[in-house]
Amino acid sequence: MIDFRSDTVTRPSKTMRNAMANAEVGDDVYGDDPTVNELESWAAKRHGFANAMFCSSGTQANLLALMAHCQRGDEYLCGQQAHNYKFEGGGAAVLGSIQPQPIDNEKDGTLCFKKLAAAIKPDDSHFARTTLLSIENTINGKVLSLEYMAQARKFTQRNNLALHLDGARVYNAACALNVDITEICQHVDSMSICLSKGLGAPIGSILLGSEALIKSAKRWRKMVGGGMRQAGIIAAAAKIALEQNPEKIQQDHDNAKYLAHALNQLDNISVNVAQVETNMVFATFTEEIDMADLVEQLKHQGILLSAGNPMRLVTHLDINQSDIDNFIQELKRTLTKSS
Ligand SMILES: *Cc1c(COP(=O)(O)O)cnc(C)c1O
Repeated sequence: MIDFRSDTVTRPSKTMRNAMANAEVGDDVYGDDPTVNELESWAAKRHGFANAMFCSSGTQANLLALMAHCQRGDEYLCGQQAHNYKFEGGGAAVLGSIQPQPIDNEKDGTLCFKKLAAAIKPDDSHFARTTLLSIENTINGKVLSLEYMAQARKFTQRNNLALHLDGARVYNAACALNVDITEICQHVDSMSICLSKGLGAPIGSILLGSEALIKSAKRWRKMVGGGMRQAGIIAAAAKIALEQNPEKIQQDHDNAKYLAHALNQLDNISVNVAQVETNMVFATFTEEIDMADLVEQLKHQGILLSAGNPMRLVTHLDINQSDIDNFIQELKRTLTKSS
């Protein structure tokens, strides 16, 4: 199967499988798993944070960060399109009693500081306490610049807010900006990274922050059922993902550009190639078309797509250029047949 639905679909490599099979393990709830401990201390140091915690998913890492930063009755500022507002089941509100205050994202994915400032509540018993700004990089495949990150840091300092970065795909951002990851991390108080997306691990995310933040997040992790026992089995693959796979992300970005160009050549599809900054392509079908039917037909040819117009296509470790060529051929054939 050639799977364009997401970069979460990659299978663990042989190296990962071997590392998993041979991982030294212990009970991580007791702090006894040497592979988890090694991953966490390595990740904290690598990204310039005091501490780190391995989590089952990005959703969990974000939830724990929000719960560690905010008390009951606090609120966090975020984008309308923020994953930790829109796509995480309202977890911060449901489980943390934390009110989200979403702001419309600008076209480039940023949040306007004027609009953010206007949404900060005065210290008055009518209002929730505004305590945190949460931003996302990359967001829908778009990269926030280092200048923007620095401005966000200044804005939060001026307004006495903490700053969280949902960095599910922060390595894609670092690659697109052509900077070391620490250039991005240095501006935030906490950051989550998905290891199971472009980095190719089968399971897991990492949360980075201060000693106090991680200590608090660890309590919440246990409470929400995220305390894992011999988690070294998955941490072993996660470490390989972090150490070896950032350098492979450029290839995904090149492949996304290649895919965007090829799609744009087709008669009834339009892609804004200049807007492809990372590993995501948004293709608009310009003629009336039964999307569900198209997706179904291509599935029979071994190609998996997300229905939608624009359609989001994501490149990753398990897609190469010849997969893209195959896909374009099959798509052409299917579109000609149905027109
Ligand atoms: C995927 C994603 C998450 C959540 O990660 P899961 O591991 O799927 O729970 C959080 N934030 C962003 C921006 C994501 O893309």
